[in-house]
Amino acid sequence: MQNLLELNQRGLTEFFAALGEKPSACRMRARQALKWLHQAQVSDWNAMTDISRSTRETLAAHAVIRDLVAVRDCVASDGTRKWLFDVGTSAVEAVFIPEVDRGTLCISSQAGCALDCAFCSTGKQGFNRNLTTGEIIAQLRYANRALKADQGITGRTGDGVQPVTNVVMMGMGEPLANFAQVVPALELMLDDHAYGLSRRRVTVSTSGLVPQIDDLARYCPVALAVSLHAPTDTLRDELVPINKRYPLAELLAACNRYLEFAPRDFITFEYVMLDGVNDQPEHAQALAAIGRQVPCKFNLIPFNPFPGSHFRTSPRARVLDFQRRLADAGFVTTIRKTRGSDIDAACGQLAGAIQDRTRRTQGRSIPLRIATPGSASGGKVTA
Ligand code: SAH
Ligand code: SF4
Repeated sequence: MQNLLELNQRGLTEFFAALGEKPSACRMRARQALKWLHQAQVSDWNAMTDISRSTRETLAAHAVIRDLVAVRDCVASDGTRKWLFDVGTSAVEAVFIPEVDRGTLCISSQAGCALDCAFCSTGKQGFNRNLTTGEIIAQLRYANRALKADQGITGRTGDGVQPVTNVVMMGMGEPLANFAQVVPALELMLDDHAYGLSRRRVTVSTSGLVPQIDDLARYCPVALAVSLHAPTDTLRDELVPINKRYPLAELLAACNRYLEFAPRDFITFEYVMLDGVNDQPEHAQALAAIGRQVPCKFNLIPFNPFPGSHFRTSPRARVLDFQRRLADAGFVTTIRKTRGSDIDAACGQLAGAIQDRTRRTQGRSIPLRIATPGSASGGKVTA
C-alpha cells in the first residue's frame, strides 16, 4: 500500500500512471489529490468528490493516508501549541507559534540527531532514524487540520485558509542530514496545489553540512538559517562538532554560494547564548568580523537548559549587551522570544527530556504515554 503523504506532485503523477490512469489525466489527478490531502486535509476517499468513484475505489485498494498520531497535545497560555508524535520507536515534536501577522510551525526532520552539539538535548539522545517525507509533511497537515478545527473552519478544498503561514525546520534533527526525504517535503510546502508557501516562508536550519547546503541551493533553495553558536573554530569545534569536518571558512563560503540562489538576500545566523562560554564582548567582536564576510542577520537564542546539561543561560543583561554590540557594528540582531514556557515546549526539548529519562532506565526504546494538555511543566520554547 502506498502512503500518499510520501509523494510530491511528481510522485503522485507517476503513482496514478502506475494505477493505469490515462496518461493525459495523471497530472490532473495528482493535483486533485494534492488539494484534498494538503489543502482540505481529508482522510476519507469519499470526501474527494471531484475524483471519479472508480478512481476512488482504486485508491482505496492501493493507497493509504498515514497520518501521525499525537500522543501529547499541549497549549500554552500564550497560544503556543505543541504536539508530540509517535513515530514508532520514538517521538518527535512540532510546535506552532501564533503571532499577529503569521503562524509559524517548527517541525522535526529526524528522530534524534547524530551530530551531538554540546548544548542540544536532541543531540544527547543520539540518532534514532530519519523521518520519511510523509512523516515530515504529516506534521504540517496535522497542525493545519487541528488548528482549523479549533477555529471552526471547515476543510473545503481550495478555500485557502491555512493557519500555518511559515514553516521552520528547527525541531528535532538535522534536516540536511536527511536530504532525500526533506526535499520532497519542502516541495510539497511550496507547491501551489498543496501548501503554496513562498520560499521565503520556509526555512531550513542547519548546523553546517557544507555539501548539502550546495545541494539545497541547487534543488530547493528556501530561506536558510545556520546554527553558528561560536565565532572561532576552536570554540565551534567544541560546541558544534560537525565544525571539525566543515570549519568556519568553508561554511561561510558555502553561505555566500547559497545566497546566489536564496529567496532572501541574507543568511540568518543562530547563536545560542551560553553563560561564560560564548557570550563575552570578544565573542561579539569576532562575530561581527564573521558578519562582514556574509550578508546576514543574527538571531540570539537564550539557552534552554535540560536535565543533564552543563551549560547555563546567559543573564538577560549580557544578552542585551551582546545584541547592542552587534547592532552597533551594523547588524540586524534579534533575540528569540521565549514562548510556551508553561507547557515544556522548547524546540527539541520535550521529546528529548522523555528520551533522556528513558535512556537511563531502558536503553533506547521510548515508552509513549498519553498525557492531558497542560500536564507537562518545565522547559521553554523560543520563537
Ligand atoms: N539541526 C538543526 C535544526 C534543529 S536545532 C540545527 O542545528 O540548526 C534548531 C535550533 O535550536 C538550532 O539553532 C539549535 O542550535 C538550537 N538549539 C538546540 N538546543 C538548544 C537549547 N538547549 N537551547 C537553545 N537552542 C537550542
Ligand atoms: Fe542535531 Fe541541531 Fe541538535 Fe546539533 S543542534 S545536535 S545538529 S538537532
